[in-house]
Amino acid sequence: MATIAFIGLGTMGARMARNLLKAGHQVRGCDRDEAAVAAFVADGGQGASSALAAAEGADIVVTMLPNDAVVSSIYLGPDGLIARLESRPMLVDCSTIGPETARAVASDGAAQGFAVLDAPVSGGPQAAEAATLSFMVGGSEQDFARIEPMLKDMGRTILHVGANGAGQVAKLCNNMTAAVVMGVTAEALALGVAQGLDPAVLSQVMASSSGGSFLLSRWNPWPGVLPEAPASRDYVGGFQLALMLKDVTLAVESARRLNAPTPFGSLAHSLYAMKARSAADAPQRDFSSILEFFARP
Ligand code: NAD
Repeated sequence: MATIAFIGLGTMGARMARNLLKAGHQVRGCDRDEAAVAAFVADGGQGASSALAAAEGADIVVTMLPNDAVVSSIYLGPDGLIARLESRPMLVDCSTIGPETARAVASDGAAQGFAVLDAPVSGGPQAAEAATLSFMVGGSEQDFARIEPMLKDMGRTILHVGANGAGQVAKLCNNMTAAVVMGVTAEALALGVAQGLDPAVLSQVMASSSGGSFLLSRWNPWPGVLPEAPASRDYVGGFQLALMLKDVTLAVESARRLNAPTPFGSLAHSLYAMKARSAADAPQRDFSSILEFFARP
């Protein structure tokens, strides 16, 4: 069993860190929100007052943080873990960030003798709670083999995708696809309903034809088609539109740097950005609420 520093005990991180505790690891939790640390200590974890205090002497550091800027501030620069740690834990970032930042952390880390991996996740808070997340991992084969058992304590599907940054690339490609597919699925359902079709029947037809998808069958955007989908509870819960917008923004920014054409991704970016500004609570609602651009069922 390992001593693990877990930095970022938010919606996802708190659940993941608890699963590491359940698996028998010693886990030192750290978050800038003291209440999050207190809750983790109440669950049997150890609390740390800073990222450095959590990470010094640990075997593994896991970060689950909101964005590139925070991940950079934790790892990079004169105040970052890479410059200040005396010990050499493995550094595993599970946040969703740009591949460029992931590569910067990896190269600064490697220069100081750290093994670094990017391991973003697919699956929301429920999958984090149930330890059924999918991890897509970037880093060396050797480091992947060392970290895979710990990732299995938090997830079900653990895939080594390639070198450092590759995990983030895979995550952004997947979520850009999901953003586009959700948008066009909503558009198609609205077109059918506008001509008198029952959205459940149309969904059944599409699910058994070439327009079918995981999102149509498991995350249907039309209210009432799937009782368990966020659409059937006024888009509460699920995957926040703000997080989808963040991921599509990262994908499109990364494409721009490469001059790679992403016309569907760029359109999806504009649509989700407009939707996020459409009402005060729009960013917090599930991303399938994009349907409201096409219909108000
Ligand atoms: P969150 O905002 O709930 O949690 C982030 C945590 O980081 C917060 O508790 C915050 O206080 C803490 N934090 C911020 N700055 C810090 C600092 N400098 N030092 C220590 N702690 C700090 O976010 P989340 O939903 O848990 O998502 C975390 C990451 O996982 C994000 O990158 C997100 O894109 C990704 N992700 C989220 C989901 C989801 O459904 N929520 C799904 C897949 C991936």
